[in-house]
Amino acid sequence: MANMRVVGLLFCAGLACCAALDDVTQQLSRDILRELIEIDTTDSAGTTTRAAEAMAKRLKDVGIPAADIQVLGPAERKANLVARYRGSGAQRPVLVIGHLDVVEARRSDWTTDPFQFVERDGYFYGRGTQDMKASDAILVTTLIRFQHEGYRLNRDIILALTADEEGGKSNGVDWLLKGHLDLVDAAFVLNADSGGVTTVRGKPVNVDLEASEKQYADFELTALNPGGHSSLPTPDNAIYHLANALSRLERAPFPIELNAVTRTYFERRAPLEDARIKADMNAILRTPPDTAAVAQLSQDPRYNSMLRTTCVATRLNAGHANNALPQTAQAIVNCRILPGHSPEETRQTLIRVFADSKISVRYLNARGEADQAPQSRGFPTVLPTPEVLRPLEEVAAAMWPGAPVIPEMETGASDSIYTMAAGMPSYGINGIAIDQDDIRAHGKDERIRESAYFDGVDFYYRFLKALTATK
Ligand SMILES: [Zn+2]
Repeated sequence: MANMRVVGLLFCAGLACCAALDDVTQQLSRDILRELIEIDTTDSAGTTTRAAEAMAKRLKDVGIPAADIQVLGPAERKANLVARYRGSGAQRPVLVIGHLDVVEARRSDWTTDPFQFVERDGYFYGRGTQDMKASDAILVTTLIRFQHEGYRLNRDIILALTADEEGGKSNGVDWLLKGHLDLVDAAFVLNADSGGVTTVRGKPVNVDLEASEKQYADFELTALNPGGHSSLPTPDNAIYHLANALSRLERAPFPIELNAVTRTYFERRAPLEDARIKADMNAILRTPPDTAAVAQLSQDPRYNSMLRTTCVATRLNAGHANNALPQTAQAIVNCRILPGHSPEETRQTLIRVFADSKISVRYLNARGEADQAPQSRGFPTVLPTPEVLRPLEEVAAAMWPGAPVIPEMETGASDSIYTMAAGMPSYGINGIAIDQDDIRAHGKDERIRESAYFDGVDFYYRFLKALTATK
């Protein structure tokens, strides 16, 4: 423990961020994280049920009424935990969500056993340390601390720890919203799956707040041809049709489009960047945006993904024999669509870009392919409500002084799509610092800095208090 303090101080030298947690809370939060990491919650061999039950037991053991704690789900291995920490009811509840499942991890790929909790060199290692058992453990720790203190909130906090965010057929958030809305209905949602603290070598740069999300869509391209003997080639070749269509896609990026969230992101991020990127960010904020600056920023995949809808070829499958002309050539194009645009609109754009009537473009959904894609345009991007932003800025300023809170658009996808679809504004907030070059979610040797974990414990406690202070 003494070691850990030293590590914490080293990384936070000169900053007020490491008001050390008391030993009891450190021990508790470490034990909960260890327990979660060592329960395999992968889709293939694991179970979220054991993890949900273990967390339910911890909450019951400290006196949260059993009637306020449910473990429920559509399948034996896929249960979710829903726990309600009761407040005065002056305001509508807040729902806090986190997924319990983790991505597969092979022992042979890792330096350590991914399902063992390993403490080494100031880090905690294990599958889920970044995505997202650390946040799950932090949330459970926070409710336990509130219960110990008898802390009175102005509203209920509903904690839902759920299954199948990473894959699998039993997405817990979707399942709870569809069948048990009464358990999880809330004024807004905090999703601890995104929105941490971006650091460079441990030094905080900015605090992320995910406030908007792109839509996900897969399209299947198919070129058909009668085929024939490969000794008698013709120009009309299914593989050439497909290859040409894909290279047209490569050369036709979608137009740049900023919204309230990404505009604010670039405004607040620009002052933190070096001179050239700063100038580019300011130049794309002009009307019309500077085209050279757009081209420059688009070189960086992170910024590119915030500027536009992206569609990229991810799979290919063609032909049936080395000595035959191909009868079928297929590709998958994966799109991440800006809010305000629909998958069907994107499909029509792809058809225009491919400019080849021999290629069919079908939308792929969970049940297979469809001729038409959904017309839904995502959720309007609005800046976070002051009710959430103000307490976040307050706590962030105390813990990571000088690192501004920056709203972001999630360019991947999270469970917030379900809560937003249910009409609940949803914000990604977690308060865990990860170096921007040490993102290991879904990868090997996933880890979290010990000091960053304990800061996260401290953060959620302070943030939920600030958010639910009696008015
Ligand atoms: Zn995640």
